[in-house]
Amino acid sequence: MEKKEKKYTQQIIIGSGPAGYTAAIYSARSNIKTILITGPNPGGQLIQTNEIENWPGDYNNLSGIKLMDRMLNHVKKFSIDIRDDIITSVNFKKYPFELYGEENIYFSTSIIIATGSSTKLLNIPSETIYMGKGISTCAICDGFFYKNKIIAVVGGGNSALEETIYLSNIAQTVHLIHRRNQFRADKILINRLYTQIKNNKNIIIHFNSCIIDILGDNIVMNKIQVYSEIEKKNYQLNISGLFIAIGHIPNSKIFSKYIDIKDNYIKIGYNNLMKTQTSIPGIFAAGDVSDHIYKQAITAAASGCMAAIDAEKYLNASKCN
Ligand code: FAD
Ligand code: NAP
Repeated sequence: MEKKEKKYTQQIIIGSGPAGYTAAIYSARSNIKTILITGPNPGGQLIQTNEIENWPGDYNNLSGIKLMDRMLNHVKKFSIDIRDDIITSVNFKKYPFELYGEENIYFSTSIIIATGSSTKLLNIPSETIYMGKGISTCAICDGFFYKNKIIAVVGGGNSALEETIYLSNIAQTVHLIHRRNQFRADKILINRLYTQIKNNKNIIIHFNSCIIDILGDNIVMNKIQVYSEIEKKNYQLNISGLFIAIGHIPNSKIFSKYIDIKDNYIKIGYNNLMKTQTSIPGIFAAGDVSDHIYKQAITAAASGCMAAIDAEKYLNASKCN
């Protein structure tokens, strides 16, 4: 087995979404020796969207890939050590803090956790059998495979509505399955969904409905079993693809032994003068991993900035001790 290299630094940023990249830009400008670890999903969640309409100043054809690529180039302008690695465990009882990656072991006097969140799943046993074999969590990545096919999207938030609208321009029919009779999505998206239904006529909404099983031939899925709360009965839909868009779970598990966490979100606000500090001084959290309310690109970026400023304050103070 190849021996892992040991890397020592002043600051580690875990994550390459809007929070991580913004933190890196601010840390670089403060001359803090920083390593940024990109993780399993370089660029973060926004890579999954083909149109961002709420990034201020960028109102024309802004895709997630384009925005995150520009943020990466912005980070590269400075002397930040960017590592394609995934942190698998940590030891926050040691100081400098220790982080164990798939590639290297890192030692750092401060840490910014910006690990974001991952797609929540339905928790139906057959979901794992058909993941990647008809089930997807990313319309932009996989939508093309369902050209002129009958498919379904589950969820009622911004992601589900965006994916439904996007997929309705590719697939023959899109069934949108939502557990309540009201969408959680922004009004503008709800209006856009109904306009699309009026124009394309290929979206069928199933309110008050939940998916209770995913069926197939063990190679690919071919139908779902749906329960209607209104009719109090099950029915089946023959579909080739199912897109799951029911929210996200913060990526906090590897830290849970050491820092305070509530409902999977890392708790911050332990220091009035460093709002992004976690329950351990020197460890900060930013973006969706610590935000149970807003969960937007701009709020993630803003909290990345705050975490970098807080970490700089912490590092400067510890120098004087
Ligand atoms: P993320 O973007 O989730 O990035 C997390 C980073 O952490 C990733 O780079 C990942 O590789 C890394 N990571 C995770 N675990 C580890 C580990 N163990 N080791 C190392 N690195 C790790 N918001 C908007 O404002 N506008 C939109 O139009 C919009 N569209 C969206 C569309 C979709 C389909 C989705 C899913 C979300 C959308 N959002 C949108 C929300 C927005 O994407 C998030 O709020 C934002 O990306 C959060 O940024 P973040 O940096 O906190 O985390
Ligand atoms: P979300 O807002 O949490 O919505 C999740 C949806 O899935 C809700 O409608 C929820 O139903 C439903 N749901 C949750 N668990 C379920 C289950 N087990 N079975 C069936 N349905 C379930 O998640 P999201 O849409 O992924 O959005 C996440 C964040 O990213 C939000 O802050 C959002 O604003 C942001 N985002 C923004 C944009 C944009 O600005 N254009 C685009 C995408 C995402 P209930 O409604 O009943 O709770």
